[in-house]
Amino acid sequence: MHITHEFKVAIAAVRLASTVTQAVQKSLVTEDTLQKKDRSPVTVADFASQAVICKALADAFPADPIVGEEDAKELREPGNAALLDSVTTHAAKAQGSASQDDVLSWIDRGGATPDGKTKRYWTLDPIDGTKGFLRAEQYAIALALIEDGKVVLGILGCPNLPANNSGGGESGVLMAALLGQGTISLPLNDATYDGTPVHVCDIQDTAQARFCESVESGHSNQSDSAKVAQALGITAEPVRMDSQAKYAAVARGEASIYLRLPTSAQYREKIWDHAAGAIVVQEAGGTVTDAFGKPLDFTQGRTLASNRGIIATNGTIHHKVVTAVGQVIG
Ligand code: AMP
Ligand code: MG
Repeated sequence: MHITHEFKVAIAAVRLASTVTQAVQKSLVTEDTLQKKDRSPVTVADFASQAVICKALADAFPADPIVGEEDAKELREPGNAALLDSVTTHAAKAQGSASQDDVLSWIDRGGATPDGKTKRYWTLDPIDGTKGFLRAEQYAIALALIEDGKVVLGILGCPNLPANNSGGGESGVLMAALLGQGTISLPLNDATYDGTPVHVCDIQDTAQARFCESVESGHSNQSDSAKVAQALGITAEPVRMDSQAKYAAVARGEASIYLRLPTSAQYREKIWDHAAGAIVVQEAGGTVTDAFGKPLDFTQGRTLASNRGIIATNGTIHHKVVTAVGQVIG
């Protein structure tokens, strides 16, 4: 793999952000916050993660727009002084030092809106799978670079995913993909850029497939996916997990299908929810389209406006899965 400067900067930025999200999870996610369904820990981690990644990208590539999920408007409200304080403390710990103004301006760097003419931009989901983060289950930090409408690199930091695909090893893995060069799996907490190539599984018989989907039934239509599974002869229960960790599971062959089936006619997928995950699967040998088999179109602004839903597979069975989904959702 020919490792580019962009690739190194992106990997280091996601690693740094993951130290922040792990620290927040350790200190702020408690039995009490779980019980009360208190969202404040994920709010702190979300802003602090976006701050440190945007700073790293702004330092290395000052001209590049960043399309992040968060903006700092809420943090500037006088009623949110304690929140800003907590975000600054966590960002400063990772960064060495940081003032509140630094943090606000770094987060604001992520406010770009691309249009069809934006040649090159980054997409960032500082914490994808916020509900998983709050449950201390799966979440991901997702960063991708898009050039001329094509995802050219993608990094998924998955702090709670086992390091290897047998489920063993320490928790925490980073999946990194470079267009045309494959996907590698790296330790999340070491400073290395050396990784192990990952590949999708090679099953051809859909009855052998394991599929994964969102935990949240509001994010993917689980009754439609159950019908699709039946049409494909799948008897295994779906693996439900939050975040783009689902793409990581397909990329390293733990699952052979990721289904995200529309729950409403209006919803459009956000680019930061899919750019990194999609290239991680494609470069591991898989295929990613929308629920109707259409390629994902990253030239439509902050959403995948011309797509609906997602199907990611090991490639070999993609056509069969698209056909089965078509029979169910029409
Ligand atoms: P997941 O963890 O895979 O369930 O996906 C989490 C992401 O779902 C969040 O980052 C949201 O951007 C996104 N989301 C929110 N509402 C919907 C919806 N109605 N359909 C699909 N995705 C959604
Ligand atoms: Mg997200």
